[in-house]
Amino acid sequence: AFNANVAAAQDALNAFIVATPEKALEAADKVDADRAAGKPLGAMAGVPIGMKDLFATRGVQTTAASHILDHFIPEYESTVSQKLWDAGAGMLGKLNLDQFAMGSSNETSYYGNVISPWRRNDGGNAALAPGGSSGGSSAAVAARLCPAATGTDTGGSIRQPAAFTGISGIKPTYGRCSRWGIVAFASSLDQAGPMARDVTDCAIMLGAMAGFDPKDSTSLDMPVPDWAGSLNADLKGKRVGIPKEYRMDGTDAEILGLWDQGIAWLKDAGAEVVDISLPHTKYALPAYYIVAPAEASSNLARYDGVRYGLRDLPQGANLQDMYAATRAAGFGDEVKRRILIGTYVLSAGFYDAYYTQAMKVRTLIQRDFAAAFETCDVILAPTTPTASFALGEKIDDPLAMYLNDVFSVPASLAGLPAMSVPGGLNKDGLPLGLQIIGKAFDEQGVLDAGLAIE
Ligand code: GLN
Repeated sequence: AFNANVAAAQDALNAFIVATPEKALEAADKVDADRAAGKPLGAMAGVPIGMKDLFATRGVQTTAASHILDHFIPEYESTVSQKLWDAGAGMLGKLNLDQFAMGSSNETSYYGNVISPWRRNDGGNAALAPGGSSGGSSAAVAARLCPAATGTDTGGSIRQPAAFTGISGIKPTYGRCSRWGIVAFASSLDQAGPMARDVTDCAIMLGAMAGFDPKDSTSLDMPVPDWAGSLNADLKGKRVGIPKEYRMDGTDAEILGLWDQGIAWLKDAGAEVVDISLPHTKYALPAYYIVAPAEASSNLARYDGVRYGLRDLPQGANLQDMYAATRAAGFGDEVKRRILIGTYVLSAGFYDAYYTQAMKVRTLIQRDFAAAFETCDVILAPTTPTASFALGEKIDDPLAMYLNDVFSVPASLAGLPAMSVPGGLNKDGLPLGLQIIGKAFDEQGVLDAGLAIE
């Protein structure tokens, strides 16, 4: 049934880059066989999921929604996807995304934008952005094409698309999920996580994705707690911090209203609400848009026309010409913009003025959170400054697009677990998300607060 729905919705949503119905069926057959043989079943047994096309999947094209990875078929499986298959999940297909996970609307994909299954309640049929970069994942889960999907979050790419489509998604503590076999964007920020209908499903799936991996040098060597088994929506004795710096000038009244509603829900669940300060919040977005492009420019140097995918070899060209022609043809505009920014801030003349400054800001932001967590257990904030917007509305204005990430990047820079859960609909009938940020390694606290809101 899921395979049929994926196929039927493809023209309307463009959520998948490639469907793999046979993989989903294979996994289902294996679960049947294991059950018949009396073997124990994994936590994801028989669950068909969508796989963001940033995860390398053995024998199945892996594109990062780019042209430069044309025809790239990995000979290896990412650690996270392997863990999901080991837990019994099956793959419905590879999900569309922003090219190399750079974007907030899924409009930078070489495979075309994803269309959100949501519509405004004004009777019109304007196509809306599903958020990004995990826009295929959010649209597919929201449209019920799959019960859950993988996402990755570098500066908000799980949380923002979850908020835009009325689903839940958690970015765990940096290092919880192995980065091995995930196409690298900004390695000090990239984290995988689940996107699903509710908090319980996220907890189950995160349990299957997380765990130490010697193949990732920044992987956390810590046991994976039984998050799903320990879920508890009673927040008695818990303190929820409300950061005053997130009340930015010009924030929509409906976003402030959503936040107040979230505070009331957490109080109802027994939590005590405390005011906190994260003084360097306003520097997080500019710091992120220096650090992330800097790392991206380095990570993307490997796409040279020699080792992967596309090769553009003009008549009579030398090696240098081949690099230039391949990269000119293979990278989209947003990716080129990031490479230019990244190489600029890392260049000898500007390194101290930009990259070093941004790294100092990153430390200050980490210290802000550490100080705040002396007086609270989790932090509540909006996920995004607005609800979903129309496709085309922001794609020609990169700064307006980057502003989507204003509430999500601080937790990314600090490596903290953070989740978005649905907070209700705005006056246009579109979903809004509430964000919960936790202490390092305290995914449980984040999930519990999410459960109390849901
Ligand atoms: N929207 C942010 C960016 O474009 C975050 C993307 C992400 O988390 N992958 O960089």
